[in-house]
Amino acid sequence: MSIAIAIDGPAGAGKSTISKFAAKKLGFIYIDTGALYRTVGLAATRAGVEPAEGRELDNLLSKITVELTFNDRGEQVVLLNKEDVSGLIRTPEASMMASKISAVPSVRAFLLDLQRNMAKTNNVIMDGRDIGTVVLPDAEVKIFLTAAPEARAKRRYDELIEKGMDVKYEDILEDVKTRDYNDMHRDIAPLKQADDAILADTTEIDLEGSIDLIINIIKEHSNGAV
Ligand code: C5P
Repeated sequence: MSIAIAIDGPAGAGKSTISKFAAKKLGFIYIDTGALYRTVGLAATRAGVEPAEGRELDNLLSKITVELTFNDRGEQVVLLNKEDVSGLIRTPEASMMASKISAVPSVRAFLLDLQRNMAKTNNVIMDGRDIGTVVLPDAEVKIFLTAAPEARAKRRYDELIEKGMDVKYEDILEDVKTRDYNDMHRDIAPLKQADDAILADTTEIDLEGSIDLIINIIKEHSNGAV
């Protein structure tokens, strides 16, 4: 039996960085589900299809393949029609498109089995918005990881600047708030803390402290499985 840890929370709470480190420490596979929505968003952008265009979007979904693999360093690689798009999906435009397209039911249905299948055969730490509520409702441990919008925007800003991107903090904060709103108010699989999830707020905690916090929560709540 494989073990699943679900980590949900808003954009920029540090889910991916923290989950990646925690997975390495525990010997689990880390799965970043946001990358899947970003990839579908990229496919739509390339095809000139808007999220609201139901039939065109369904048509697009029937033609594309999205796969998750791992490179030699154990890092997640996402393939769109066999092309590695892991780097291309990390722009602010891709973030916004992912946020919009993820509200479309057929897109969520399209990605559901892929996510569940990954957890069937591996011990996983899976991060997203609806992992504890929809994708893996029976996960051994569920964590809702959050931080104040300003702290999350600052972290995302620092990350993008380090990658050499020309961005403004105010724009990122605006993006964070818009995405929070979109993610929490959509009809299908909205971002919310599962009833049985443990809340972890990292506003005042640095990266190292946050990793320790998450690992402690996992160990404490996994009934000896981890
Ligand atoms: O986590 P990340 O910021 O990469 O996610 C991009 C977008 O994909 C989010 O804003 C959210 O709208 C969507 N998403 C989702 N469900 C998930 C993961 C991401 O709706 N499980």
